[in-house]
Amino acid sequence: MFVRKHLDARCPYCGSPLYYGLKSEPTGWKARYDCPEPEGCGREFTVGRIDRASVESEDDAYERARRLGDGGI
Ligand SMILES: [Zn+2]
Repeated sequence: MFVRKHLDARCPYCGSPLYYGLKSEPTGWKARYDCPEPEGCGREFTVGRIDRASVESEDDAYERARRLGDGGI
């Protein structure tokens, strides 16, 4: 999984910056947020699913995953 740093989202447990990414599934992706160690606590969060038919490209899917974390996860 290829992850990007989210500019605003923070881990609800430890307050560290979160990284987001997509995990492929047969019909789309799972939007995942990770709080990587050692800065963070190592937790992973699934914040939603993105249907492959609902986006134009994988970049769009990343954009959607980013928006799911705006305002907190
Ligand atoms: Zn954390």
